[in-house]
Amino acid sequence: MNQRKMAFDPGQYVKLLPGLVGIVLNKAQYLAATKLLKQGQKPGRYFAPGCCQHPDYVIQIPVLFEDETFDVMRAMNIKHIDSPPPKKRQKLRTIIEKLDQYSRREQTMEDCIFCKIVKGEIPCFKVYEDDKVLAFEDINPIDLGHTLIIPKNHAENLFEIPDEDLAAIHLAAKKIARGIREALNPTGIACLQLNGKGANQVVMHYHFHLVPRHEGAPELPITSWELKPGDMGAIEETAKKIAAAIEG
Ligand code: AMP
Ligand code: ZN
Repeated sequence: MNQRKMAFDPGQYVKLLPGLVGIVLNKAQYLAATKLLKQGQKPGRYFAPGCCQHPDYVIQIPVLFEDETFDVMRAMNIKHIDSPPPKKRQKLRTIIEKLDQYSRREQTMEDCIFCKIVKGEIPCFKVYEDDKVLAFEDINPIDLGHTLIIPKNHAENLFEIPDEDLAAIHLAAKKIARGIREALNPTGIACLQLNGKGANQVVMHYHFHLVPRHEGAPELPITSWELKPGDMGAIEETAKKIAAAIEG
């Protein structure tokens, strides 16, 4: 019995009928699959998660099939197979990877302090909101009026944030900067945005800092570097490398 039970561990391939191959999901993958379906999304072209009954087990086995006809066969018994055709195996593996990604992302969002602010689970000093972004005061301000603009949808950094959210952040920055100028009459406003631990990013949810500057305020290290002529050859070389990388 134990040995047979092993056959239905997550990652095992199963079939209902000749040609209808599925894969057993773990709990996180099954939750991700059902959530995505509820949102009307499919991580792959064929996507039909469900539970199959097996007469030897009281439990239902969560299975994902690479064929939409699965639904009509929900009540049938499943059998373990060792090696499905490589194409089917590849399709299922691709879907599983997407489910794992989705599930990791959900976990990150659950732990993310700025997502909690977006959901209203922890308070903030809000200054602006639209359908894509939220802006609030930094609680450890470099100076009064230090404001953070974040996308409502979790994205870790500049590499991850979708274009439309990035555009919304910058349009909001323009409005908010005007508000800061009118409200606080600063001598200038610095825009800062850090990506990755190496750049001292502390909160791993994209945020754009607006820091009003005032006469006599201590310099920001990032705005007060010493102006020493660089190595022009190295600068040119670097420019070429970056430009080539951008061109792809
Ligand atoms: P960074 O180094 O760019 O990741 O900066 C993160 C910023 O988020 C810091 O300036 C923190 O003061 C700020 N911060 C962290 N938690 C909160 C919070 N709950 N409300 C407002 N600002 C926060
Ligand atoms: Zn987040």
